[in-house]
Amino acid sequence: MNLILVGPPGSGKGTQAQRLEEMHGLKQLSTGDMLRAAVASGSKLGLQVKAVMDRGELVSDEIIVAMIAARIEEPDCADGFILDGFPRTVPQAEALDKMLAGSGLELDRVIEIRVDDDALVARISGRFTCATCGTGYHDTNKPTKVEGVCETCGGTTFNRRDDDNAETVAARLEAYHRQTAPLLPYYRARGTLASVDGMGGIDEVATAIDGILENQEIAS
Ligand code: AMP
Repeated sequence: MNLILVGPPGSGKGTQAQRLEEMHGLKQLSTGDMLRAAVASGSKLGLQVKAVMDRGELVSDEIIVAMIAARIEEPDCADGFILDGFPRTVPQAEALDKMLAGSGLELDRVIEIRVDDDALVARISGRFTCATCGTGYHDTNKPTKVEGVCETCGGTTFNRRDDDNAETVAARLEAYHRQTAPLLPYYRARGTLASVDGMGGIDEVATAIDGILENQEIAS
């Protein structure tokens, strides 16, 4: 099964994708994580994209499409993948359609996670991840059970993203509404879009997503 999670920054795409990876054996492909890894490694790609990411703007379609095209061909995607943060523009969605058709793959579902803009800033400003394994946490919504210790791997070092500050979040939200929201009618017209209310807790949203996927398995 191949899925896309669409939603504004802070809507919980990464959290839900991690859970789907664990529960359903699908591979999470986060373009944001790939770009942050490139920046951290100091690669040519990282140097190219850092300033754009720091401003909260979108990296060029060309760079992103090339990155994903290479990634979905890797063996760990053979049982299915969850695209988290891609596509983010209609040209990226069109490029994805071509890529999938060329590889004989299908897109099963696009799941939109809906969250009000007002809730997003609070969500984003509290989030952090384990520096060792990448498990995501939040100061109030999902703290570590033991303070300062990752419950997945026992790591004790955590990161907060450079672009999770109020000014950049405003630019990222603007980019979402202007460039990414047009994907919703694009996928609605193809009959692949389903939406969940992302305002509830992590488990509630997960249950809503599982409901969509159960129907999907029956239908396919
Ligand atoms: P994310 O982790 O998904 O919030 O992405 C962080 C940043 O990476 C975004 O603000 C963009 O600058 C960049 N980025 C991630 N995915 C994409 C994409 N599909 N297209 C363009 N830029 C992206």
